[in-house]
Amino acid sequence: MSNIVKKGILIVVSGFSGAGKGTLMKKLISEYDNYALSVSMTTRKPRKGEQDGREYYFVTRERFEEVISVGGLIEYASYVDNYYGTPTEYVEEKLNSGLDVVLEIEIQGALKVKEKFPEALLLFVMPPSIYELKERLLKRGTETDANIGKRLKRAKEEAEGINHYDYIIINDDLNKCVVRLNEIILAAHADPLRNREFIKKLMDDLSQY
Ligand code: 5GP
Repeated sequence: MSNIVKKGILIVVSGFSGAGKGTLMKKLISEYDNYALSVSMTTRKPRKGEQDGREYYFVTRERFEEVISVGGLIEYASYVDNYYGTPTEYVEEKLNSGLDVVLEIEIQGALKVKEKFPEALLLFVMPPSIYELKERLLKRGTETDANIGKRLKRAKEEAEGINHYDYIIINDDLNKCVVRLNEIILAAHADPLRNREFIKKLMDDLSQY
């Protein structure tokens, strides 16, 4: 019997701005070794402490449009006056090597990914309350009041699309939340629909009996 190299799962994580998904994803990646986090491209300016190539690839609008035109992005979307997009190459390489690839993207992009990759797992991270969400955005101190308003308005629009996701995750306690997240992903690995190739191989091997 030949070995089967199982491809990783494409995991899409969305959530309202300030829901804490960035911190949650960083912790997931550092605690388990089967994940790869995709770094997006954006036209947004870096925040204090953000590094090019780590949080994002920070590019000009012209460069972003150039990458779109050569088909270098799996998906892209406009969010609060800027472009954000997922580079194709890294995602495909890591999935093929068997790692689960995490995309931390907003809802328009998430739905495009689901169209292209029906087996993607869509997760939505929620704050315990909207009060908490606003507090987190204020405490972060990275956004202007006008921008916080825009982000909360956008949260309202995104809330309408939550039913398209497979699971919601309430980010109440970071440590518990990471464990829950990993368990959900482990369960997805056991889904027969995500194991078609493996099952097919077993059936082929059984056909001689
Ligand atoms: P922020 O400006 O707070 O870093 O990100 C704003 C929003 O853009 C967040 O909801 C984030 O998940 C989303 N985002 C980040 N990268 C991408 C991407 O590559 N594609 C899409 N569609 N959304 C992204």
